Amino acid sequence: MDPVPNTCVIFDIDGTLVDSDGFEDALYRTALREVLGDVRLRASWAEYDNVTDAGLLRQICADNGLSASRAETSVRTRFGELVSAQLQTTESCSSTAGALAVWDELRADDRFALGIATGGWGHTTRMKLDAAGFSHEGIVLRCSDDSHVRTQIMAACRTALPPTDHTVYVGDGLWDLAAANSLGWRFIGVGQRLHGRCPRWIPDFLSSSFHDAFLSGFN
Ligand SMILES: [Mg+2]
Repeated sequence: MDPVPNTCVIFDIDGTLVDSDGFEDALYRTALREVLGDVRLRASWAEYDNVTDAGLLRQICADNGLSASRAETSVRTRFGELVSAQLQTTESCSSTAGALAVWDELRADDRFALGIATGGWGHTTRMKLDAAGFSHEGIVLRCSDDSHVRTQIMAACRTALPPTDHTVYVGDGLWDLAAANSLGWRFIGVGQRLHGRCPRWIPDFLSSSFHDAFLSGFN
């Protein structure tokens, strides 16, 4: 086996590796309300320029005439407390179907350099990875603590990894697809939200579909 990685694979977290849809959004909104009060929010996150934990907060503060620099530490801390409490419950955070096996397999394969780039803050990202059982020690992880702009987070992750022939981003959101396209990366869409939206798509990480989309689809 070639000991030098020739493909960099960078994963999104929420909805891609971990099933956090059931609480992530609600707890973020709770943290916003508790810290900022009854601020006005746009109709959907898609109406914000940067759908990242820090990016949303900045624009919400701007929309409501508040100082984001003063609010960020408080909202980030409160959100972390809420997620931590959530992960103590029986309705914790599990990996998406097949994701743990694929993760472990790619980690053990020298042909791949693995990274994580997420729009979430780092503290909650690590909590969720731990709760879902992902082994991530030594893995390059870039997040909303590094930048509030998704493409900058992804680019920072890529820069921290060894040079490779190809870079692939794996995500579940339209913003993931758009960011990968703007960086000129290959993309694998996961889950129903991207069904029919991108050339390389898998419903989940079960069976051999990920490897088919990956190994045969790009070569
Ligand atoms: Mg996602």
